[in-house]
Amino acid sequence: MSIYTVLIDANNFFVSCERLFRPELRNKPVIVLSSNDGCVISRSEEAKALGLTMGEPYFKVRERCDQHGVSIFSSNFALYRDMSRRIMSVLRRYADTVEAYSVDEAFVALDGRDGDIAQQAHALHTAVIRETGIPVSVGVAHTKTLAKVATHFAKPKYGGRGVNLLLEPYVRNVALEELPVDEVWGIGFRLGPVLKDLGVTTAGKLIRMDDTWLRKRLSVRGLRTVYELRGTPCFTVGEDTTLRKSLLHSQSFGRPVYDLSGLKQAIAHHARKAAEVLRVEGAAAREVYVTIRTSRHTTHRYSAYDGDTLTHHTNDTITIVQTALSVLERMYRKGFPYAKAGVMVKDIVPEESVMPRTIFGEESGARKPLMHALDALRHRFGDRAVQLGAEELRCTTEKSWHPKSNTLSPRYTSSWADIPTVSPHVA
Ligand SMILES: [Mg+2]
Repeated sequence: MSIYTVLIDANNFFVSCERLFRPELRNKPVIVLSSNDGCVISRSEEAKALGLTMGEPYFKVRERCDQHGVSIFSSNFALYRDMSRRIMSVLRRYADTVEAYSVDEAFVALDGRDGDIAQQAHALHTAVIRETGIPVSVGVAHTKTLAKVATHFAKPKYGGRGVNLLLEPYVRNVALEELPVDEVWGIGFRLGPVLKDLGVTTAGKLIRMDDTWLRKRLSVRGLRTVYELRGTPCFTVGEDTTLRKSLLHSQSFGRPVYDLSGLKQAIAHHARKAAEVLRVEGAAAREVYVTIRTSRHTTHRYSAYDGDTLTHHTNDTITIVQTALSVLERMYRKGFPYAKAGVMVKDIVPEESVMPRTIFGEESGARKPLMHALDALRHRFGDRAVQLGAEELRCTTEKSWHPKSNTLSPRYTSSWADIPTVSPHVA
């Protein structure tokens, strides 16, 4: 028996989520834009074929999109997060250890014999597609970095059919010779050009460099990456037990905001979202920071970043919102066209490690059931179901601070009101 590292990566994830509920868009060019409808952040294969590149500002490609009838979506993160959760729950049925690496990627550890690992990988591939409708690529190898390479070549654009095993040394070497060095996980865009300048253009060349040479030019992380490419595991697949160090919730405004009350609404919203994420992740924070800034393109510029440390760790919405608002009042300067605001919480610890403090009974005792009730309502009826008085209600906002998202799809899976309906066929 050996242990295999398997990477499951959704293909064109955001686009795939949108197509799930708009099946007529299959095999058609589709793109998803970042918040404020700024840049292209997800493309269908057909959109890639039209030469639309990742990160391209939408205004530059709008005309080309119109010409070719490209379908355009604003990013619908409520939908993507929910689909991500569904994919992860399918994976948890197949593997004891699932590491959700990003919204559309997860590492799992499977044990088996060389003979049946392929079958297991195919079973997992089929189950995710059948149960979630999201096309995924599955890469199998002996290390995380090689599993990344395997998945890379499992993608349709490389002629892959969804599952790729990189276990035989010969197969592995062929793949590494073909892989540009800057596509290696952990090498990336910073180190990639440096290595290329030194003549190390592919992953195959990189693993043949001797260790003294590598040690001089790479960090410890970089060196481990090379070992992993050679087949020696250096990074283990772990359940995501490590808590993040900080959490930022921020967004650009749909139009400049000048007044304190407008900023307060935005900050209250971001603080509430940050508290919710803390509760979902079973964490609590002790530092609350606020950031506000004008656009970089205005002549009348101002930006500020400041925070407060609480007396204790918390994930209570009301405490975090109140703290953020008092920080904001301190840093706000009149007369500037503010373009962006955000809330960051830091000093994050697991919730269960926080001592119950009766002295703050109002919060940690009495308000916990209230927070649970709020989370339950939101889970059932969507984000707009319950808000704090300090936040502006979305439905009243013509001239709101909310970012522009002109082509947002419904929250099919996370709001009762948006669930797709099937009409009976009338002959
Ligand atoms: Mg992906």
